[in-house]
Amino acid sequence: VRYALLAAAALTVSVLAQTPTPARSPADLASLWNTEHVSPAISPLVDHAEVKRRIGLLQQDTSAPLRVREIGKSLEGREIFDVTFGTGPFVVLVWSQMHGDEGTATSALFDVYEYLRRHRDEPAVQQVLRTLTVHTVPMLNPDGAERWQRRNAQGLDLNRDALLLQGPESQLLKRLRDELNPRVGFNLHNEGWKTTSGRPPVPAAISLLSVAYDDARSVNEGRLLTKRLAAVVRDSLEPLAPGRIAKYDDAFEVRAFGDNLTKWGTPVLLIETGPWPEANPDPPLARLNFVAIVRALQALADGSVNRANPARYDALAQNELLGFYIKITNVTIVTNTGIPPFTGDVGLDANRRVRFANGQRKLFQTLNVNDLGDLRTYAGVFVIDGTGLTLMPANPSWKEGDSVAAFVPSPWEADIEARRPVTLPWQAGQLLPAQPAELALVNLHADSYRVQRIFHAMEEVK
Ligand SMILES: [Zn+2]
Repeated sequence: VRYALLAAAALTVSVLAQTPTPARSPADLASLWNTEHVSPAISPLVDHAEVKRRIGLLQQDTSAPLRVREIGKSLEGREIFDVTFGTGPFVVLVWSQMHGDEGTATSALFDVYEYLRRHRDEPAVQQVLRTLTVHTVPMLNPDGAERWQRRNAQGLDLNRDALLLQGPESQLLKRLRDELNPRVGFNLHNEGWKTTSGRPPVPAAISLLSVAYDDARSVNEGRLLTKRLAAVVRDSLEPLAPGRIAKYDDAFEVRAFGDNLTKWGTPVLLIETGPWPEANPDPPLARLNFVAIVRALQALADGSVNRANPARYDALAQNELLGFYIKITNVTIVTNTGIPPFTGDVGLDANRRVRFANGQRKLFQTLNVNDLGDLRTYAGVFVIDGTGLTLMPANPSWKEGDSVAAFVPSPWEADIEARRPVTLPWQAGQLLPAQPAELALVNLHADSYRVQRIFHAMEEVK
């Protein structure tokens, strides 16, 4: 009922062209991304120098429909850029990576620029450029990105600095909003790989939030617009990530930028990028971001956003933290604490760290045991059926695929089989919650002794 009333009064995007121009479908955009994207395979390796290099390349193409300007500098003096496209009356503000270790959307923005460069003559792109003026800030927090940390060089969470404005990066974002008075904003983030959607939980690739501007989570014209936009994004992404789109908690956060921008007259859609079940999740997640951004801009430009049903957003399951990176089910667990083995599920969490070695930026992934026992209520980005297998602290000399038959049957193997207290005869840690996951998944059955899988507590991602 509320929506019906608002819809009658919703003039937010009525200035926009209503003539339908054939827009690319989500599947079409996804396959176009496959062949034309410029984003790197590992987005955490994109530092400020790489953003600058890519901006420089954009500036070389003087006929591209892109305008670059430096809007200021980070605390440590790194340039922050506004890449603008379009000349239309409807102003949009997009920013990425205000949290330094959340870079997927920065990569996707460069794919959007590439799309505009290559397809500038297509009617749908022309319509976007004619109808909208889109300001994009790729990497708002370059100092945090340099360290691959959430916060800026002061240790500030910029997304809790909208009111005090103590970070130069926060001041830039506020100034940009006040100068442009955009009609809508996009705040682009990553969220943890534990994030899930629905019950039973499924890893959530993307979470959407029509950002609230008050504790009552009232719906005004601006929020109705971002709900409609969220519906457009949901319907665009769901075919590419079935069941993996969630809704982010819409509690009002008085210190956050999205909430305050919405209050100041620029309603904000938050897009959070979560986990994806591939060993290198960055490319497929950058592709989802690309499709989301292009489809949302198309919908604003051709007016189809006005026909999107906000209930499609409201009906999304709210995201929860019910996931592990790796969930091994129904496995024999050897803790290496001198107790008998038992059967259960094991949940491992993954985290990413950027380290510098010989001046090179390198990405590492860490694995920790989060939980063990009956974990049926949890999801896994990867789920391994451990039935008939044994999970234990790894023997450092083992490698995946090794045949354990080569080992002389020893008391520890017999102890596992008989479920007697086990002491492993090699230097190893313990399989317990909060411990690093240096583990082996082994098939100890007599006819196929085999090291099925080794999990490393820390590994370089290449
Ligand atoms: Zn964030």
